[in-house]
Amino acid sequence: MAMPSATQSPLFTKEFYTSLFENIDGENIKTCLQCATCSGVCPFGHVMDFPPGRMIAWMRAGILEEMLESDSVWMCVSCYACTEVCPKEIPVTPSLMTRAKEEVLLAGNVPTELQSALEFSQRYGNPLGESSRKRAAWIEDLDFEVPTARKVRRPVDVLWFVGDYASYHPRVKEVTKAFAKLLKALEIDYIILGGAENSDGDSQRLAGEKGLFEVLAEKNAKAFSRCEFGEIITTDPHAYNALKNEYPQLGIEYPVKHYAEFLVERLEEIKPLLKDNGKVRVTYHDPCYLGRVNDIYDEPRTLLEAIPGLELVEMPHNKTTSLCCGGGGGGMWLDGFRWEKAEARLSEWRMREAASTAVDVLALACPYEPPRFEDAAKAIKGAEDIVVKDIIELLVEVMEE
Ligand code: SF4
Ligand code: SF4
Repeated sequence: MAMPSATQSPLFTKEFYTSLFENIDGENIKTCLQCATCSGVCPFGHVMDFPPGRMIAWMRAGILEEMLESDSVWMCVSCYACTEVCPKEIPVTPSLMTRAKEEVLLAGNVPTELQSALEFSQRYGNPLGESSRKRAAWIEDLDFEVPTARKVRRPVDVLWFVGDYASYHPRVKEVTKAFAKLLKALEIDYIILGGAENSDGDSQRLAGEKGLFEVLAEKNAKAFSRCEFGEIITTDPHAYNALKNEYPQLGIEYPVKHYAEFLVERLEEIKPLLKDNGKVRVTYHDPCYLGRVNDIYDEPRTLLEAIPGLELVEMPHNKTTSLCCGGGGGGMWLDGFRWEKAEARLSEWRMREAASTAVDVLALACPYEPPRFEDAAKAIKGAEDIVVKDIIELLVEVMEE
């Protein structure tokens, strides 16, 4: 890497510097110790020209142009590992990395894969480029009715925000259908928005498209305002994060729960429905946006431990130190780009850890994960026989059998 010259600093980079540093987060960033703990813990720090610690050092020196020309920021999967370990409690992920992505995106330095997902989100309301008319097509596979807002025109207890991958991805739709069965078994009074639901926008925001995030949030707010409900539930930690922490900043405020919280509240109703299908050894992968970002560690484990015969074992990296699956912060849309740069998949690192614990099942709680880990299992020696399932699927399986 060429050393920078101190004169490289066009106007827009100065504006970036000012906008980043002249606010509360900026004041915080100025306290950086240059200890490089953030860069060390970063799963892709070794292939970044500018891991977070170095980025701060160069910005302090007013040398910004090369940083903006580098595609380092697109290696960031917004996993919050750096934020978790920073001794100065600097919000590295939500402030520094996300702002840097916004700036690099404005400068037009965007990988094509990401550009497509952002364009699809704008045009179709989801990053997969699917028609909104097909958003609730999964309900046709069920032999019972799933209540939609269009049909149920009365106040309900719960609005289930289904999410993009849970609505459209063939593997993840199996989890979605299992959740519908669970809600039916628990006699929950709920609706889904169907075609009126749009992407929650959180991953687009973390990939630097704050404007698009706001547009999507407003569309969802409009759909919410047409319904009467007590609370929102979702199976998607990214949607959960958006609804809980980001939408309120836009004045869109509703009580929201991830399914793990919602089901734990109903554990005494669930337990009698669960049968003992024999011994099974299970490990749980903490999704970044449920664990590190929103501090939900116990509820998924409580649900798993309620399954008769289930032995829960932890992987070496668990809870706050959990490894990322590589799907966050736009990672779902940058797999090709990251493979080219790093020749490594984070999901494979994680699957190697799961294999080291000699488990039968890797349990999940995020719709980004089943396809990523099922692919990884095929590539890792010793992981070929590990079954990859969402906690919802594990619960419904022992209910059905
Ligand atoms: S961990 Fe925190 S203090 Fe250390 S280099 Fe990174 S941002 Fe600076
Ligand atoms: S959020 Fe994760 S991927 Fe991004 S810089 Fe921090 S540790 Fe690295």
